[in-house]
This record gives sequence, structure tokens and C-alpha cells, in this order.
Amino acid sequence: MTNVPVIGFVSLGCPKATVDSERILTQLKVEGYRFSGDYHDADVVVINTCGFIESAVEESLDAIGEALEKHGKVIVTGCLGKNAQVVTSRHPGVLAVTGPHEYEAVMEAVHAVVAPPAFDPHQDLVPTSGVKLTPRHYAYLKISEGCNHSCSFCIIPDLRGKLVSRGITDVVAEAKNLVADGVKELLVVSQDTSAYGVDLKYRTGFVDGRPVATRMYQLAEELGKLDAWVRMHYVYPYPHVDDLIPLMRDGLILPYLDIPLQHASKSVLGAMKRPGDHESMLERIAGWRDVCPEIALRSTFIVGFPGESERDFNELLDFIRVAKLDRVGCFTYSDVAGAQANHLPNHLPEEEKTRRLEAFMLLQAEISAQKLAEKVGYEMVVLIDEVGADGAVGRTYADAPEVDGTVLLPGVTDVEPGMFVDALIVGSSAYDLIAEPVFDDA
Ligand code: SF4
Repeated sequence: MTNVPVIGFVSLGCPKATVDSERILTQLKVEGYRFSGDYHDADVVVINTCGFIESAVEESLDAIGEALEKHGKVIVTGCLGKNAQVVTSRHPGVLAVTGPHEYEAVMEAVHAVVAPPAFDPHQDLVPTSGVKLTPRHYAYLKISEGCNHSCSFCIIPDLRGKLVSRGITDVVAEAKNLVADGVKELLVVSQDTSAYGVDLKYRTGFVDGRPVATRMYQLAEELGKLDAWVRMHYVYPYPHVDDLIPLMRDGLILPYLDIPLQHASKSVLGAMKRPGDHESMLERIAGWRDVCPEIALRSTFIVGFPGESERDFNELLDFIRVAKLDRVGCFTYSDVAGAQANHLPNHLPEEEKTRRLEAFMLLQAEISAQKLAEKVGYEMVVLIDEVGADGAVGRTYADAPEVDGTVLLPGVTDVEPGMFVDALIVGSSAYDLIAEPVFDDA
């Protein structure tokens, strides 16, 4: 076998960054490079970084430091690369720093270290859907890049720029390729899924020769025709999100909405530069549940935002108590270099932020446990993720991979990842379900 150059690859950050990594890996594979998750046999190491919050910046800088120490030849890309100086001041030895989705610049940096191999007709073919970092049965489908909002705690618009949507023709073609390659669940991701197509003025594309607008609703309709679960993530709470709910009720897309609300108090939301308030959100949630009672709602919140009073925090807890969301992530506020919120008055002490986080999570754990206990005795469809010697692990429509809970199927080993299994829910904990497969006697 010829001496094929090997690229060590480290992918950090959110699902959007994972998609960037997949694009770079696909291009590397197209050019004939091999990959390794290990530094030792690599010719050069590429690190796709995250720069969203301080802890992510530190994790990325540590990963770069480790790669430099263990290997020496390191190329940095991704969100942290947008501020090259942050990287080079800590690690002057890196070979190149490129920003998020600068695929060509990464390839140029790789070429400068190790040229692509001569064409080898025996090398593996690249799958139609490209190289994926997710298991074969689910895939992230990135529909746009960047964001037009200016939430005061966030620097994503600085890192990734204004909204740039992919045309609907292109997105649906990618989704079809993924499904043809065996993907059973499409996870629609972006910074702001509900704004999809705004920048293109909802330009008309073509799907199977039919004109279709580049717009969230039309995208959900088209993806809903494919033979796969379709899960919508990062849906900013615009009013037109309501239009998706009938598609969920009718089974086109999963009855699952990941809608980051961040807070419930009008004054905190105002300081965050985000819309909404406690009452209007509860009304909308009630409206969604009227149309589609089984809808699973996921959201994320920030506690300890500058100026968040005890009253604001209690308002958030009241909201959580009444809204009874299915899945919730919560973070304490922390400054992010360059964010407007850093300059707001009345920052809270760390111990107070932690106290609020713990109170919030305790309440949500009770709500989650209660909601999951209500599922015991019902049959649900479970998508299998993993199978081991002790049994299988899967998810229902209410669980996104990596962020939500799971369904444990103890002792079930005669299934495979990517299979849909009808299962009877026989037990529950705060975040997970226990189930047994149901066999059809017919
Ligand atoms: S909508 Fe999301 S990505 Fe856009 S500025 Fe707000 S938090 Fe950041």
C-alpha cells in the first residue's frame, strides 16, 4: 500500500461545529487522506474548536496545547479561530488558524504540511452523504449558518456572521442522500432554524421538479415526506413556529420542539434582548399542546443573568412549574469575551448563581420524573442507538441524541442500532425510561 498521509482530527463544540468537521473530513477523504483520532501516527493534527463560553474556550485551548505537546504540528479551525490572537498568544507554535466554516483555508493549511496522495483507485469511496461523525443511523442536517439576532450574552453573530441559509433544493437533496445511505433520523440544526430563508427572501427552489419556498414550514413539509424521523432544533420563538405544530400532529415531523427560551421574566428577557414573557409563553405552549397533545418540549435557560432579582428567578421557577417542559438544560450566566452583557450592571456572585442553578435543576428533576412516570404502561416506538452484552439503549420521539434521556432495554440483545422497536414502558427514573420490546403475536 502507498504511504497515505494521515490527519489527526479533534472535533469539539456543538452540532453545528460537528457538521463543519464532517465537511472538512469529507473533503480530506475526497483528496485521499486517511484520518486518525490519535496523534501518534498522524502527519498533522487539525482541531475544530468552540469559542461559545469561557469554559469552551479553555477546553479548546487545552486541546491545542495537548496536541502541540504530543505532536507538534497543529492547525486550528472553528469558532475560536475567529479570534486568531486568542489562540496564537497562548500557543504561538500553531501552524495556521482559520475561522468557522473556512473549509478551503483548512485544506490549504493541510496541503502546506502534507500534500494530497496520488490518486489510488483502490481507496474507499466517499459515501454520497459525505463523512459523518455521528452513528450511521442519525445525522445533523445544517440548514443555515450565522444569526441575525443580537442576544446580549451571545457572540455567535460575531463568530459566525449574519444568517446565511442554504437553498431548499440543496438541503432536501442532502437529506435524501442521508436517508438513502441508511440514516433513520434527521436532526435539523442551525443557529436559528425559524429564520431559515429570511436572507434569501424565501427564494423558490425545486424539489422533484416542484417549486418550493426556502422557508422553515416548507422545509419541514418536504423532510416529512422522507422515510426518517425529522427533529427540529434551535427554533427561536417566532410566532410562525406555531405553524409547525399541525405537521407534528399529522406525523410528518416528530412532535418535538427544541426552543431555547433562556428565561421567563420580561425584565431579564429584555436585558437579554430577547422577546417574550412568562404569560405569553405559557399561552403559546398551551396552544401547541391543544393542537398536538403529545408534543415534547425541550428548552435551555440561563440563571444568574446580570440584574436577575430574586423575584425574576422565582418567576422563572413558577414558569417551569406550570409549563412542565419535558427536557430542560440550564446554565449559570458567565461572561463571554466580547458580549454586550459583560457591561450590564448588577452581576451576581458565583455562589448565588450556583444556588439558583441547583434550585432550578431540583425542581426540573421532579417535573421530569413525574412526566416520565406517566409514560409507564404505554407502548412507544424506540429507535435503538447501542447494543451491548447487557442490553440495548434507545430513544423515543421525545429524546434527541446526546442531550436528552434514553430508553434502557435490559437483556435485549437481538436488535441493532438504527432499528425501530415497539416497546412497553415498564419503569422510569428522573431522566430515563425502562422498556421491554413488544412482539406482535399475529
Ligand atoms: S438567537 Fe441564538 S445564536 Fe442568535 S444571538 Fe441569540 S443566542 Fe446567539
